[in-house]
Amino acid sequence: MLDGCGRTIDYLRLSVTDLCNYRCRYCMPEEGICKRSHSEILSVEELAEIAEAAVRCGVKKIRLTGGEPLVRRGILDICRRLRAIPGLEELCLTTNGSLLPKLASPLREAGVDRLNISLDTLRPDRFAAMTRLGRLSDVLDGIRAAEDAGFRNIKLDTVLIGGFNDDETGDFVALTREHPWEVRFIELMPMGPCASWDKSCFLPVDFILERNPTLQEIPASGVARRYRLPGAPGAVGLISPLSHDFCGGCRRVRVTADGKLKGCLHSREESSLRGLHGEALEEAIRQGILHKPRRHHLTERPSDTPRNMHQIGG
Ligand code: SAM
Ligand code: SF4
Repeated sequence: MLDGCGRTIDYLRLSVTDLCNYRCRYCMPEEGICKRSHSEILSVEELAEIAEAAVRCGVKKIRLTGGEPLVRRGILDICRRLRAIPGLEELCLTTNGSLLPKLASPLREAGVDRLNISLDTLRPDRFAAMTRLGRLSDVLDGIRAAEDAGFRNIKLDTVLIGGFNDDETGDFVALTREHPWEVRFIELMPMGPCASWDKSCFLPVDFILERNPTLQEIPASGVARRYRLPGAPGAVGLISPLSHDFCGGCRRVRVTADGKLKGCLHSREESSLRGLHGEALEEAIRQGILHKPRRHHLTERPSDTPRNMHQIGG
Protein backbone atom coordinates (compact mmCIF):
# COMPACT_ATOMS: atom_id res chain seq x y z
CA MET A 1 0.00 0.00 0.00
CA LEU A 2 1.08 3.63 -0.52
CA ASP A 3 1.75 5.94 2.43
CA GLY A 4 0.75 9.60 2.57
CA CYS A 5 3.92 10.59 0.65
CA GLY A 6 3.37 8.06 -2.15
CA ARG A 7 5.96 5.55 -0.94
CA THR A 8 5.17 1.85 -1.31
CA ILE A 9 5.17 0.19 2.11
CA ASP A 10 5.72 -3.55 1.87
CA TYR A 11 8.24 -4.33 4.61
CA LEU A 12 7.49 -4.91 8.30
CA ARG A 13 10.12 -5.12 11.01
CA LEU A 14 8.50 -7.03 13.82
CA SER A 15 10.16 -7.05 17.23
CA VAL A 16 9.60 -10.21 19.27
CA THR A 17 11.35 -9.10 22.48
CA ASP A 18 13.14 -6.13 24.01
CA LEU A 19 15.47 -8.43 25.97
CA CYS A 20 18.99 -9.32 24.91
CA ASN A 21 21.87 -11.49 26.04
CA TYR A 22 24.30 -8.66 25.12
CA ARG A 23 24.52 -5.07 26.37
CA CYS A 24 26.06 -3.27 23.38
CA ARG A 25 27.23 0.10 24.62
CA TYR A 26 25.44 2.12 21.93
CA CYS A 27 22.16 0.24 22.33
CA MET A 28 21.52 -0.82 25.93
CA PRO A 29 22.03 0.83 29.29
CA GLU A 30 24.84 -0.78 31.28
CA GLU A 31 22.56 -1.92 34.07
CA GLY A 32 20.42 -3.80 31.55
CA ILE A 33 16.68 -3.37 31.55
CA CYS A 34 13.80 -4.33 33.79
CA LYS A 35 12.25 -7.53 32.54
CA ARG A 36 8.63 -6.88 31.71
CA SER A 37 5.90 -9.27 32.64
CA HIS A 38 4.86 -11.71 29.91
CA SER A 39 1.55 -9.96 29.47
CA GLU A 40 3.25 -6.74 28.31
CA ILE A 41 4.89 -8.47 25.36
CA LEU A 42 2.97 -9.66 22.29
CA SER A 43 2.09 -13.34 22.47
CA VAL A 44 2.81 -15.73 19.60
CA GLU A 45 -0.88 -15.51 18.73
CA GLU A 46 -0.85 -11.70 18.66
CA LEU A 47 2.36 -11.59 16.60
CA ALA A 48 0.82 -13.95 14.04
CA GLU A 49 -2.43 -11.95 13.94
CA ILE A 50 -0.56 -8.66 13.37
CA ALA A 51 1.65 -10.23 10.70
CA GLU A 52 -1.38 -11.65 8.88
CA ALA A 53 -3.14 -8.27 8.94
CA ALA A 54 0.02 -6.53 7.72
CA VAL A 55 0.29 -8.94 4.80
CA ARG A 56 -3.35 -8.21 3.92
CA CYS A 57 -2.32 -4.51 3.89
CA GLY A 58 0.41 -5.23 1.31
CA VAL A 59 3.43 -6.29 3.36
CA LYS A 60 5.54 -8.81 1.42
CA LYS A 61 8.61 -9.07 3.63
CA ILE A 62 8.86 -9.44 7.40
CA ARG A 63 12.05 -9.18 9.42
CA LEU A 64 12.04 -10.47 12.99
CA THR A 65 14.18 -8.41 15.32
CA GLY A 66 14.48 -7.30 18.93
CA GLY A 67 16.28 -7.05 21.42
CA GLU A 68 17.76 -10.38 20.49
CA PRO A 69 15.05 -12.38 18.71
CA LEU A 70 16.73 -15.70 19.47
CA VAL A 71 16.31 -15.28 23.24
CA ARG A 72 12.52 -15.12 22.76
CA ARG A 73 10.83 -18.25 24.02
CA GLY A 74 8.80 -19.77 21.17
CA ILE A 75 10.86 -18.12 18.42
CA LEU A 76 10.67 -21.24 16.23
CA ASP A 77 6.92 -21.38 16.65
CA ILE A 78 6.71 -17.69 15.68
CA CYS A 79 8.79 -18.35 12.54
CA ARG A 80 6.64 -21.32 11.53
CA ARG A 81 3.41 -19.36 12.03
CA LEU A 82 4.65 -16.41 9.98
CA ARG A 83 6.13 -18.53 7.21
CA ALA A 84 2.72 -20.13 6.67
CA ILE A 85 1.04 -16.77 5.90
CA PRO A 86 -0.15 -16.80 2.28
CA GLY A 87 1.30 -13.85 0.34
CA LEU A 88 4.36 -13.39 2.54
CA GLU A 89 7.31 -13.53 0.15
CA GLU A 90 10.24 -13.34 2.54
CA LEU A 91 10.82 -14.02 6.23
CA CYS A 92 14.15 -12.67 7.52
CA LEU A 93 15.72 -12.32 10.93
CA THR A 94 18.36 -9.99 12.38
CA THR A 95 20.45 -11.48 15.17
CA ASN A 96 23.65 -10.91 17.09
CA GLY A 97 24.50 -14.47 16.01
CA SER A 98 25.52 -15.79 19.42
CA LEU A 99 22.78 -18.43 19.59
CA LEU A 100 23.02 -19.55 15.97
CA PRO A 101 25.28 -22.53 16.74
CA LYS A 102 22.23 -24.11 18.38
CA LEU A 103 19.43 -22.46 16.42
CA ALA A 104 20.57 -22.02 12.80
CA SER A 105 19.25 -25.39 11.59
CA PRO A 106 15.92 -25.21 13.46
CA LEU A 107 15.40 -21.66 12.11
CA ARG A 108 16.00 -22.85 8.58
CA GLU A 109 13.56 -25.72 9.11
CA ALA A 110 11.04 -23.28 10.57
CA GLY A 111 11.10 -21.38 7.26
CA VAL A 112 13.41 -18.39 7.80
CA ASP A 113 14.69 -17.37 4.37
CA ARG A 114 17.58 -15.04 5.21
CA LEU A 115 19.71 -13.88 8.13
CA ASN A 116 21.43 -10.61 8.95
CA ILE A 117 24.12 -11.09 11.58
CA SER A 118 25.46 -8.09 13.47
CA LEU A 119 29.22 -7.93 13.89
CA ASP A 120 30.97 -4.67 14.73
CA THR A 121 34.55 -5.85 15.20
CA LEU A 122 36.78 -8.80 14.34
CA ARG A 123 38.92 -8.34 17.47
CA PRO A 124 37.93 -10.48 20.48
CA ASP A 125 38.93 -7.86 23.08
CA ARG A 126 36.99 -5.08 21.35
CA PHE A 127 34.01 -7.36 20.87
CA ALA A 128 33.90 -8.19 24.58
CA ALA A 129 34.26 -4.50 25.50
CA MET A 130 31.50 -3.29 23.15
CA THR A 131 28.94 -6.02 23.86
CA ARG A 132 29.84 -6.16 27.59
CA LEU A 133 28.65 -9.82 27.72
CA GLY A 134 29.62 -11.28 24.35
CA ARG A 135 32.34 -13.52 22.93
CA LEU A 136 33.46 -13.07 19.32
CA SER A 137 34.03 -16.81 18.82
CA ASP A 138 30.31 -17.50 19.47
CA VAL A 139 29.31 -15.21 16.61
CA LEU A 140 31.93 -16.61 14.23
CA ASP A 141 30.68 -20.13 15.10
CA GLY A 142 27.15 -18.81 14.53
CA ILE A 143 27.99 -17.58 11.03
CA ARG A 144 29.48 -20.98 10.18
CA ALA A 145 26.43 -22.74 11.61
CA ALA A 146 24.16 -20.55 9.47
CA GLU A 147 26.08 -21.50 6.34
CA ASP A 148 26.06 -25.19 7.29
CA ALA A 149 22.30 -24.96 7.83
CA GLY A 150 21.91 -23.77 4.23
CA PHE A 151 21.44 -20.02 4.71
CA ARG A 152 22.66 -18.09 1.66
CA ASN A 153 23.07 -14.36 0.96
CA ILE A 154 24.10 -13.79 4.56
CA LYS A 155 24.52 -10.13 5.46
CA LEU A 156 26.88 -8.96 8.18
CA ASP A 157 25.78 -5.64 9.71
CA THR A 158 28.62 -3.52 11.05
CA VAL A 159 27.93 -0.23 12.81
CA LEU A 160 30.81 2.11 11.93
CA ILE A 161 32.03 3.83 15.09
CA GLY A 162 34.84 6.39 15.06
CA GLY A 163 37.60 5.49 17.53
CA PHE A 164 36.30 1.91 17.84
CA ASN A 165 36.32 0.01 14.54
CA ASP A 166 37.28 2.62 11.92
CA ASP A 167 40.71 0.95 11.63
CA GLU A 168 39.09 -2.42 10.75
CA THR A 169 37.21 -1.47 7.60
CA GLY A 170 39.87 -3.08 5.39
CA ASP A 171 39.59 -6.35 7.36
CA PHE A 172 35.81 -6.38 6.95
CA VAL A 173 36.02 -5.58 3.24
CA ALA A 174 38.61 -8.35 2.84
CA LEU A 175 36.04 -10.87 4.15
CA THR A 176 34.09 -10.35 0.93
CA ARG A 177 37.05 -11.72 -1.04
CA GLU A 178 36.81 -15.04 0.79
CA HIS A 179 33.08 -15.36 1.43
CA PRO A 180 29.85 -14.68 -0.50
CA TRP A 181 28.62 -12.39 2.28
CA GLU A 182 27.45 -8.81 2.05
CA VAL A 183 29.23 -6.74 4.68
CA ARG A 184 27.07 -3.69 5.35
CA PHE A 185 28.46 -0.66 7.13
CA ILE A 186 25.80 1.32 8.96
CA GLU A 187 26.20 4.83 10.33
CA LEU A 188 25.83 5.06 14.10
CA MET A 189 22.56 6.87 14.85
CA PRO A 190 22.35 9.23 17.85
CA MET A 191 19.73 7.57 20.03
CA GLY A 192 19.62 6.05 23.49
CA PRO A 193 23.01 5.64 25.21
CA CYS A 194 25.06 6.88 22.23
CA ALA A 195 23.06 10.09 21.71
CA SER A 196 25.51 11.88 24.01
CA TRP A 197 28.70 10.35 22.53
CA ASP A 198 31.37 12.59 21.04
CA LYS A 199 30.82 13.79 17.47
CA SER A 200 33.95 11.90 16.37
CA CYS A 201 32.13 8.56 16.89
CA PHE A 202 29.65 9.41 14.12
CA LEU A 203 31.48 8.79 10.84
CA PRO A 204 29.86 9.00 7.41
CA VAL A 205 30.07 5.61 5.66
CA ASP A 206 31.69 7.26 2.61
CA PHE A 207 34.78 6.82 4.80
CA ILE A 208 34.72 3.15 3.65
CA LEU A 209 35.13 4.25 0.01
CA GLU A 210 38.04 6.55 0.92
CA ARG A 211 39.78 3.71 2.76
CA ASN A 212 38.97 1.04 0.17
CA PRO A 213 39.34 2.78 -3.21
CA THR A 214 39.23 -0.45 -5.25
CA LEU A 215 35.55 -0.97 -4.43
CA GLN A 216 33.39 -0.73 -7.55
CA GLU A 217 29.76 0.31 -7.46
CA ILE A 218 27.13 -2.34 -8.30
CA PRO A 219 23.31 -2.03 -8.38
CA ALA A 220 21.81 -0.88 -5.07
CA SER A 221 19.34 -2.86 -3.00
CA GLY A 222 16.80 -1.26 -0.69
CA VAL A 223 18.38 1.56 1.29
CA ALA A 224 21.94 0.25 0.77
CA ARG A 225 24.38 1.53 -1.85
CA ARG A 226 26.43 -1.49 -2.93
CA TYR A 227 30.02 -2.13 -4.03
CA ARG A 228 32.28 -5.05 -4.85
CA LEU A 229 36.01 -5.72 -4.92
CA PRO A 230 36.94 -6.82 -8.46
CA GLY A 231 36.26 -10.57 -8.76
CA ALA A 232 35.10 -10.97 -5.14
CA PRO A 233 32.19 -13.33 -4.33
CA GLY A 234 30.86 -11.03 -1.61
CA ALA A 235 29.73 -7.40 -1.62
CA VAL A 236 29.91 -4.30 0.52
CA GLY A 237 26.81 -2.27 1.42
CA LEU A 238 26.74 1.26 2.77
CA ILE A 239 23.75 2.39 4.81
CA SER A 240 23.81 6.08 5.52
CA PRO A 241 20.81 7.33 7.51
CA LEU A 242 22.69 10.53 8.40
CA SER A 243 24.95 11.48 5.53
CA HIS A 244 22.59 10.53 2.66
CA ASP A 245 18.91 11.00 3.36
CA PHE A 246 17.22 7.79 2.25
CA CYS A 247 13.80 8.48 3.76
CA GLY A 248 12.32 9.03 0.27
CA GLY A 249 13.00 5.36 -0.53
CA CYS A 250 11.90 3.90 2.82
CA ARG A 251 9.42 1.01 2.45
CA ARG A 252 9.17 -0.08 6.08
CA VAL A 253 7.03 0.16 9.17
CA ARG A 254 7.79 -1.35 12.55
CA VAL A 255 5.91 -3.04 15.34
CA THR A 256 7.53 -3.07 18.79
CA ALA A 257 7.46 -6.07 21.11
CA ASP A 258 4.78 -4.32 23.18
CA GLY A 259 2.54 -3.92 20.15
CA LYS A 260 3.10 -0.32 19.02
CA LEU A 261 3.11 0.46 15.31
CA LYS A 262 5.86 2.94 14.39
CA GLY A 263 6.01 4.54 10.96
CA CYS A 264 9.56 5.77 11.57
CA LEU A 265 12.32 4.51 13.85
CA HIS A 266 13.12 8.04 14.96
CA SER A 267 9.71 9.56 15.55
CA ARG A 268 7.77 9.74 18.83
CA GLU A 269 4.56 8.78 17.13
CA GLU A 270 3.26 5.28 17.72
CA SER A 271 -0.15 3.65 17.82
CA SER A 272 -1.17 0.62 19.80
CA LEU A 273 -2.31 -2.49 17.94
CA ARG A 274 -3.06 -4.52 21.05
CA GLY A 275 -6.62 -5.65 21.55
CA LEU A 276 -7.47 -5.03 17.90
CA HIS A 277 -8.62 -7.81 15.62
CA GLY A 278 -9.80 -8.36 12.04
CA GLU A 279 -10.97 -5.21 10.25
CA ALA A 280 -10.09 -2.93 13.18
CA LEU A 281 -6.51 -4.24 13.25
CA GLU A 282 -6.14 -3.81 9.49
CA GLU A 283 -7.54 -0.29 9.67
CA ALA A 284 -5.07 0.66 12.43
CA ILE A 285 -2.18 -0.63 10.29
CA ARG A 286 -3.48 1.27 7.23
CA GLN A 287 -3.74 4.48 9.28
CA GLY A 288 -0.21 3.96 10.63
CA ILE A 289 1.13 3.53 7.09
CA LEU A 290 -0.82 6.52 5.82
CA HIS A 291 0.66 8.74 8.53
CA LYS A 292 4.24 7.49 8.24
CA PRO A 293 6.46 10.55 8.79
CA ARG A 294 8.06 11.98 5.65
CA ARG A 295 11.58 11.94 7.12
CA HIS A 296 13.65 11.82 10.27
CA HIS A 297 15.54 14.82 11.66
CA LEU A 298 18.80 13.17 12.70
CA THR A 299 20.91 15.73 10.87
CA GLU A 300 19.41 18.49 13.03
CA ARG A 301 19.03 16.77 16.42
CA PRO A 302 19.24 13.36 18.10
CA SER A 303 16.47 10.87 17.45
CA ASP A 304 13.04 12.04 18.67
CA THR A 305 12.12 8.60 19.96
CA PRO A 306 12.33 8.17 23.72
CA ARG A 307 13.04 4.46 23.14
CA ASN A 308 16.42 2.78 22.96
CA MET A 309 17.12 0.71 19.85
CA HIS A 310 16.56 -2.63 21.62
CA GLN A 311 13.03 -1.41 22.47
CA ILE A 312 12.19 -0.83 18.81
CA GLY A 313 14.25 -3.28 16.77
CA GLY A 314 17.04 -1.84 14.62
N1 SAM B 1 20.04 -8.08 18.66
C1 SAM B 1 19.97 -8.14 17.25
C2 SAM B 1 21.26 -7.63 16.62
O1 SAM B 1 22.08 -7.04 17.32
O2 SAM B 1 21.40 -7.84 15.41
C3 SAM B 1 18.78 -7.41 16.66
C4 SAM B 1 18.39 -6.10 17.25
S1 SAM B 1 19.62 -4.80 17.10
C5 SAM B 1 18.80 -3.46 17.86
C6 SAM B 1 19.54 -4.48 15.35
C7 SAM B 1 20.66 -3.68 14.78
O3 SAM B 1 20.60 -2.35 15.26
C8 SAM B 1 22.06 -4.20 15.11
O4 SAM B 1 22.76 -4.41 13.91
C9 SAM B 1 22.67 -3.08 15.91
O5 SAM B 1 24.05 -2.99 15.71
C10 SAM B 1 21.92 -1.88 15.36
N2 SAM B 1 21.94 -0.69 16.21
C11 SAM B 1 21.62 -0.61 17.52
N3 SAM B 1 21.75 0.67 17.95
C12 SAM B 1 22.17 1.40 16.88
C13 SAM B 1 22.48 2.80 16.67
N4 SAM B 1 22.38 3.67 17.64
N5 SAM B 1 22.86 3.17 15.43
C14 SAM B 1 22.96 2.28 14.41
N6 SAM B 1 22.66 0.98 14.54
C15 SAM B 1 22.28 0.54 15.77
FE1 SF4 C 1 21.40 -6.64 21.94
FE2 SF4 C 1 21.41 -6.18 19.34
FE3 SF4 C 1 21.22 -4.15 21.10
FE4 SF4 C 1 23.50 -5.44 20.92
S1 SF4 C 1 22.54 -4.25 19.28
S2 SF4 C 1 22.42 -4.92 22.85
S3 SF4 C 1 22.86 -7.48 20.46
S4 SF4 C 1 19.72 -5.72 20.77
